[in-house]
Parts: sequence; structure tokens; C-alpha cells
Amino acid sequence: MENKQPLKMNIDIESAEDVICPYCELHLQENEPSSNIFIQAFMVKKIPALQSPTGKEALVPIPIFICQTCGQQLVQHADE
Ligand SMILES: [Zn+2]
Repeated sequence: MENKQPLKMNIDIESAEDVICPYCELHLQENEPSSNIFIQAFMVKKIPALQSPTGKEALVPIPIFICQTCGQQLVQHADE
């Protein structure tokens, strides 16, 4: 990943769209509010020694979001 471009965005967070858990949205009961609260967690990947820049096996944490209501991981489909 060589071409790192600085993120220059003017975000109006108030008008930004809420992300709602797709699982909760699908299985929503009529009287339940949809879930837009997520907990940050980490998935940990193990990098084999041969691929690691340090030459040693390494654990790399990847931040993910877990729906507070149903426990499903929030997945963003960026490349669709
Ligand atoms: Zn959910």
C-alpha cells in the first residue's frame, strides 16, 4: 500500500447517516427499536514468520464493530 492520500473531508457528523445493524433490521420485531449501537472489538490475525516484517510470527489486531443488540459483526461491503 504505497499511495497513501491524506483524507481531506469536511464531514457534518450531525447530518451523516446512522449505520443500523442489518441483522437487527431484518429480524426486527415491530415494537423493537432498530440497533445503531456498536461495540468495538478486535479480530486478531496471525501473520506467519515468513510473511512478517520482523521475521517472527506476529499477531495483528483488526478493529471490528459488534452490534450491541444481536452480537453480529458489522460488515461493510466497500467493493460491491
Ligand atoms: Zn444487531
